[in-house]
Amino acid sequence: MQNSEIKTTCSYCGVGCGIIVTNDSKNGVTVTGDKNHPVNKGMLCSKGMNLHYVVNDTSDRILYPEMRWSKSHPLERVNWDTALDRAAAVFSSIIKKHGPDSVGFYISGQCLTEEYYLVNKLVKGFLKTNNIDTNSRLCMSSAVAGYKKTFGEDSVPIAYDDIELADTFLITGANPAWCHPILFRRIEQHKEKNPKVKIIVIDPRRTDSAMAADLHLQIIPGTDIILYHALAKRLIEKGYTDNDFIKNHTENFKLYKDLVLSSSLEKASKLCGISVNDIKLAADIIGKAKGFLSLWAMGLNQSAIGVDKNTALLNLSLLTGQIGKPGSGPFSLTGQPNAMGGREVGGMANLLAVHKELNNPTHRKEVAEFWGVDDISEKPGLTATEMFDALESGKMKAIWIICTNPLVSLPDSRRVEKALSNAKFVVVQDISHNADTSKFADLLLPAAGWLEKEGTMTNSERRISYLPKGINAPGEALSDVEILTRFAKKMNFNGFNFNTTEDIYKEYCLMTKNTNIDISFLNYNRLKNEGTFQWPVPDYGHPGTPRLFTDKKFYTPSQKAIFNIPTAIENTSEQPNDTFPYILTTGRIRDQWHTMTKTGKVSRLMTHIPSPVLEINPIDAYKASINNGDIVVVTSKNGTVRVKAKVTETIREGVLFLPMHWGKQLENDLNRTNNLTNTLVDPISKEPDFKFTTVAVAKY
Ligand code: SF4
Repeated sequence: MQNSEIKTTCSYCGVGCGIIVTNDSKNGVTVTGDKNHPVNKGMLCSKGMNLHYVVNDTSDRILYPEMRWSKSHPLERVNWDTALDRAAAVFSSIIKKHGPDSVGFYISGQCLTEEYYLVNKLVKGFLKTNNIDTNSRLCMSSAVAGYKKTFGEDSVPIAYDDIELADTFLITGANPAWCHPILFRRIEQHKEKNPKVKIIVIDPRRTDSAMAADLHLQIIPGTDIILYHALAKRLIEKGYTDNDFIKNHTENFKLYKDLVLSSSLEKASKLCGISVNDIKLAADIIGKAKGFLSLWAMGLNQSAIGVDKNTALLNLSLLTGQIGKPGSGPFSLTGQPNAMGGREVGGMANLLAVHKELNNPTHRKEVAEFWGVDDISEKPGLTATEMFDALESGKMKAIWIICTNPLVSLPDSRRVEKALSNAKFVVVQDISHNADTSKFADLLLPAAGWLEKEGTMTNSERRISYLPKGINAPGEALSDVEILTRFAKKMNFNGFNFNTTEDIYKEYCLMTKNTNIDISFLNYNRLKNEGTFQWPVPDYGHPGTPRLFTDKKFYTPSQKAIFNIPTAIENTSEQPNDTFPYILTTGRIRDQWHTMTKTGKVSRLMTHIPSPVLEINPIDAYKASINNGDIVVVTSKNGTVRVKAKVTETIREGVLFLPMHWGKQLENDLNRTNNLTNTLVDPISKEPDFKFTTVAVAKY
């Protein structure tokens, strides 16, 4: 380590807490919360405060490239040149024979911005396919589409500092007490100091977030839009709307008003499973708020109607004029540390960098010119689940997977197994042998992890931070940018003559000039010396932009925000039936991260919930003769899971919950939750419907 102490950012969730890392020869790396960091002010959650165990324990690390010459051969150690020569030869040959769309890259919201930018340039600009997508597709793509439809661009309007300025919080489809703990702690502290602050939580489970709320609306899964419309109806009828804002700064209000007024609170109450009184109470709290913040996460996004759910929620902020002013606005909670940075550099199959659109010929031309290539294919790239469909059907032949574990995290794991088995060539670039997907690798590339490379990330409030390299990666592991740059050179592509990671950052920054996410005046020096900045940072010495839309001018052609009318109000997922009578919803638990390749190594993080359990309501348990602690079998159309039952009143009758994290711990992967999940996706965002699968449950 060059310095005995360095400042960096947590590698887990999108909160983006500041961390101080020290390293000494006796104890290795240790971490503490950065007291001067604007996000966490010294606090860290259980995952963040145990990060050093993950770094210090290198027992699972991939230390050198491993390759097999054919599917029947075992992986064997090779050097980097051999590995990347083979990758280049196989990708070239497949592209020559089957065309550029026969290959794809699947990356991660944990990649640094420079890595995201580089791989998108490589794939869209030089491999000539748009088959590059990210696991952020499973996380934020519905929110991205919702922001674009409402504000004209993917732009989170608020700053975390709005938390301390708000007096009403609507937390919906999220459990920040467990999944974004430091933000939730800030909300709790604010309420402790200001008891009149109100928290409303909408969730089918009585989570820790719901327990801290003034009002918990224990909704039937999938009925969110009906509830938001009922809240809107009450707000309009009680005169809680901001008519000046609606008249001067929005479009489409009449259609929206007619729609929400056409239904009754009684009908909404029946469909959502929430009393009329509670709907009125929630609307009245929101209507009287001086500062209204809505916060949401996967409960809205991971749905077959996820985009509509997002826009229906955003409409509540427009209706009350609660946007662009202190303590107000809609705020999507990102699950991954750099999901936002990935969005900025166009890290999805349908996007280009700096919020340009792949389906816009002018945008494609501008980006192609910037990269010095003839063109960018107009054909939409395959999204996360579509790529694995294409591997299964044989349309796609090769996939390069970076920093993600789709075998456990994508819906319908058995289908993912088939897809990977069917692929001609699978590259897995990761830090850990524990990533279940690696067993399908024809080429396994050792990547540097957190603290072992430099780069930038953007958290959920548009805050960019610089992460320095603090220690060397073990073995022969290389940073992702180094691996990809070497591969690009093996492919004889121009445009990858970057000497440093900063050179990649500079190229991207140049691209942002005069856009709504302009950071052309934010260089590594400022980030290193002055700390973190919220984009845009459009001038020399600019302090960053905490809050967007303060001038009430939005990024739509009319500069007005748009009230969107949902195409589907009721859930389009398969409804419970005689064979599969329960709704299964899935999610995170407090101390685990994604597929546990990192947090699963830390014994103290395994004590909270050591193995997956199925949450089931006592009435449902009684009907199925299930007792607390019984082993149960959960089945869906797609597969089976065998876990312990936890009988609890915290979950709504008719609904079951399984954590998403576990993979191969049980024989035949029987505790992998995504064995069960359905393959529906939102028609616009293509985000999977993880929160609604119909299942049956029985005692084992
Ligand atoms: Fe890390 Fe998120 Fe916990 Fe902060 S809240 S320490 S960013 S996991």
